[in-house]
Amino acid sequence: MRQVTLIPGDGIGPEITEAVKAIFKAANVPVQWEEENAGQTTFDSMGELIPATLINSLNKNCVALKGPITTPVGKGFKSINVQLRQMFDLYSNVRPAKTTKGIKTRFENVNSVLFRENTEGLYSGLEMFDERLQISDSVARLTRVGCRKIIRAAFEYANKHQCKKVTAVHKANILKSAGALFLDEFTTIAKDYPHIQADDKIIDNMCMQLVAKPEQFDVIVTTNLFGDILSDLCAGLVGGLGVVAGANIGDEMAIFEAVHGSAPDIAGKGIANPTALLRSAIMMLHHLDLKDEGNRIEAALEATLANPQECTGDLGGSASTMQFAQNIISKL
Ligand code: NAD
Repeated sequence: MRQVTLIPGDGIGPEITEAVKAIFKAANVPVQWEEENAGQTTFDSMGELIPATLINSLNKNCVALKGPITTPVGKGFKSINVQLRQMFDLYSNVRPAKTTKGIKTRFENVNSVLFRENTEGLYSGLEMFDERLQISDSVARLTRVGCRKIIRAAFEYANKHQCKKVTAVHKANILKSAGALFLDEFTTIAKDYPHIQADDKIIDNMCMQLVAKPEQFDVIVTTNLFGDILSDLCAGLVGGLGVVAGANIGDEMAIFEAVHGSAPDIAGKGIANPTALLRSAIMMLHHLDLKDEGNRIEAALEATLANPQECTGDLGGSASTMQFAQNIISKL
């Protein structure tokens, strides 16, 4: 039995978490949940955003599944997601995007995995504001070690999953220093994987290519800001944030998370779509080497998604969150 920290989160988080727990139980997955929350809910009840009990649980279990957490915009506390990524050096943000039968989109045959550097670049937290001159600076710092780790992670993934190509995305034509550093590491590491095609694209061209011919991409690796934007763009190609998985992975720890927000507009109504959290949980099972369990749940989920009427309203059905979960369970 593997112990995993479960962070239900805010808003719809607890509802979609219950659905995932029910599916895991029905599938007899050998995972024991240790529930510890973070965010607005724990702040309201305990006065703490990231309680020490959560940090202890993460340090002990090294694997977590996390629901969405409410973050105030432009004021208030720093994003809990960003804090957890930096606290535990979760440098790889991994976001698969795959066309699914039954989910209507404008695009077909999309099957890519984006590796976004998660701790550096424009999100390093190096921000200054000069009151007198009214000038704001945000430093986009890249380190060679940081570039090396995310690029290596992307190639290792491509190698393990027999992917044909890894594409590096950058803006080296304008950002000469950062772009050169990233591309230099990319070229060096690519030599260790001669059987994998390595190419690169400038970010603006990449955006155009992704919405014109998304099927040409396999594994994509990029820096923090570009990755933040591209990962949501890729989600949009396959049905949106409600259906894609996400993971934050470091050398010691991995936190798997639904990448959509806490959806306060539908919280408490029992109609939230649990697919994103369930797909993240399936990724987690593969990470834990519980491949058979992961594949079994994935097959039941895919069969349910193929019939939109068995799904929640956002996918064209009329099922509640728990009915959707029951429909998946009935196909296990
Ligand atoms: P949101 O993703 O919460 O909602 C956007 C729209 O998508 C809403 O209409 C919502 O009802 C719908 N939606 C989202 N998830 C859904 C699901 N699983 N099923 C059905 N519909 C779903 O984005 P927002 O409104 O911009 O943000 C709300 C809060 O969430 C903010 O506080 C924001 O900071 C936070 N947030 C957290 C995360 C995270 O923890 N990973 C990510 C994004 C936003």
